[in-house]
Amino acid sequence: MEVGEPDVRYRLEKMFKQEACERSLTSILVWSDYMEFILRQQQGKLPYLYLPFHGKGGARAFFTTRLGGVSRGCYSSLNLGYHTGDQTDAVTVNRRLAAQTLGINDERFVTVDQVHGDRVLAIESERDVVAKKGSMADAMVTHLQDVALTILCADCQAVYIYDPLQRVIAVAHAGWRGTVTRVAANCLQVMAHLYGSRPRDCRTALSPAAGFCCYEVGESVCAAVKEAFPGLWQGLLAKKDTDRWHFNISQANSLVLQDAGVIKENICISKLCTICRQDIFFSHRGSKGATGRMAAVLVQ
Ligand SMILES: [Zn+2]
Repeated sequence: MEVGEPDVRYRLEKMFKQEACERSLTSILVWSDYMEFILRQQQGKLPYLYLPFHGKGGARAFFTTRLGGVSRGCYSSLNLGYHTGDQTDAVTVNRRLAAQTLGINDERFVTVDQVHGDRVLAIESERDVVAKKGSMADAMVTHLQDVALTILCADCQAVYIYDPLQRVIAVAHAGWRGTVTRVAANCLQVMAHLYGSRPRDCRTALSPAAGFCCYEVGESVCAAVKEAFPGLWQGLLAKKDTDRWHFNISQANSLVLQDAGVIKENICISKLCTICRQDIFFSHRGSKGATGRMAAVLVQ
């Protein structure tokens, strides 16, 4: 398996040489220029995608792949979702493997009962870490350290938000419903209300998801997108070679973040499509529903 990190280092070095060397790197590059999900695999551990927010000591964003677990068949192999029809024991082993690889204690993962809604759960105390696990919500916000906010997905997009000034993190589960109801903007509102976060200070990232290349949608989704993004939907929906509409979910979530005040240069968008790359990702669409789940994890 190819490890992406040296490649990024090479690109950075190349860019640095091309630009005037006396200028500092930070004055040449904007955040999203050099921030991208990197494939990592340490010896004997699982491969995963990684995004270090704001360098050392900042938040860490992870996105697991389907590789390296013990589940079989359509759940092969690193299925992290219990509500998929897979064997419970296998998912438990997979979650332990993922926790070990990411260096996070099992008990510090917080997941929610995802319902394609727009509700944001605030984890405001150590008590909440235990008490609010499994609550019905599609997004989470916390200022706590070592609390791994986790969204499970297979084609839906995970939105990661980090405020390096107030030291607050948030994740959101955004399928087409969460995107048109602006669940990511709700996170920013809760962050502002509880912690005084300003969207313009936030660094954000959009996970691998069903890509524009493959994400066919029907008339009802088109109608919802047109209603949610009046005047802008033409850039989000297009007919490809077939007669079906395709939806650009990454671009839509980027617009949601920008509308809420996030600076475009602070939005990192993964280019990986979960439907194209079923060799490394679970895809709900690609497998017609019977499949596993990846985890999008954000921790500081
Ligand atoms: Zn694709």
